[in-house]
Parts: sequence; structure tokens; C-alpha cells
Amino acid sequence: MTTVQQGLLLVVSGPSGAGKGTICNLLREQMPELGYSISATTRQPRVGEVDGKNYFFKTVEQFKEMIAKSELLEYAEVYGNFYGTPRQFVMNQLQDGKDVLLEIDIQGALQVKKSFPEGVFVFIVPPSLKVLSERLHGRGTDTEEVIQKRLSCTVDELGYAPAYDYVLVNEVAEAEADKLLSIMKAERNRSSRKQQIVDSIKAGK
Ligand code: 5GP
Repeated sequence: MTTVQQGLLLVVSGPSGAGKGTICNLLREQMPELGYSISATTRQPRVGEVDGKNYFFKTVEQFKEMIAKSELLEYAEVYGNFYGTPRQFVMNQLQDGKDVLLEIDIQGALQVKKSFPEGVFVFIVPPSLKVLSERLHGRGTDTEEVIQKRLSCTVDELGYAPAYDYVLVNEVAEAEADKLLSIMKAERNRSSRKQQIVDSIKAGK
């Protein structure tokens, strides 16, 4: 059989500090074949971050050029910095039948939903605002001012949950990563994704 099923676009999003990164890393360990889109950003690298691995670190001018050339599938300004998803990598992977993971903010996820309504959209939320505050402080990567800004945005951001296909409450990251893996397995078998294969079976191929 020669039919290649198009890859699945998994978009994981949610308020900052909800634990998207941890859950996505656990999923990637369990699904090494999952393509991971490395975002472009204008924010400064944190200690230990590597250009081309964690992000493609860009100047504002370089980022604006990427926008002008339509090189980004989506982009957003998040807490004063630009972040965006390079389009080419995602399109190539999907066309080759490979699944791709985007770990992006809510504004970006809503943009992707417009152009890829067939994607799978997962919203990660913290178990409570108190836990979120503890996590943001514990991470030690942001100033108090940034943390307060992030916390005050979270209540509004939680209002976007209904726009997503699934909501995971991140109490224990390992448990939620397992659920994400189950979601991927089930979504691959959604009837709309199997239509080409069913058609080719019908045609005796
Ligand atoms: P951080 O600076 O902590 O790495 O990321 C800040 C926020 O930007 C996180 O919510 C992260 O998911 C989001 N983000 C990372 N890459 C992208 C991207 O390519 N597009 C959008 N819209 N958001 C992104």
C-alpha cells in the first residue's frame, strides 16, 4: 500500500508555568519519532539554552524579516518578546507523514487553529493559581515583576479552554504526559484521518 497518511499536528498550549515544557519533553521521550518544531524568538537565551536546539534566537530585525517573508506559520508577542513557528519545517514533516509537536502560547495556538483546524489542540492548566505561583517562583528564571504579570494574565487565559480539543490539569506531569500519548494514539485513528486509506482499500490498491 503506497498511501501516506498526512502527519498529525499536535499543538500544546496553556498559561505560562502550567508545565507545558515538562509534559512535552516527557511525551518526546516516549515518542522519539515525533517532530518537534523549534521556535524563533527575540528573547535572550537563558543559562544553558542553545541556539538551534531550544530556540532560534533572533534580533527583532531578523524576526520582522521572517514575518515579511511569510516564513512563520504563526507568531505572537509574549511578555515583550516575539515568538514564532518556522513554517517550512512543519509543512515538510506533515507532508512526509510525520507527526509534529508545537509548544506555543495561546495567541499562537488560536492562529494555528484557523489555518489547521484538523490539528489536535491540547490545553495544559495548573491545578491552582497558588501552585502556579509557586512554580513560577521556583523556576527562578523570571523577575518578580514578570511573575506578577504572568499570574494576572492566567485568569484571563483560562477562558480559552473551550477553544481546545482537550484539557490536561497538570498535577503530576508524568500522568498527563501518558494521557497526551493516549490522545495521540487515538487521534491517529480518527475516521477523517483514515479516509484516504479506506478509499485506497475500496479501490483495491
Ligand atoms: P519562554 O520564554 O518561557 O521559553 O516561553 C514563553 C512563552 O512563549 C511560552 O508560553 C511558550 O510556549 C511560548 N512560545 C514558545 N515558542 C512559541 C512560538 O513559536 N509561538 C508562540 N506563539 N509562542 C511560543
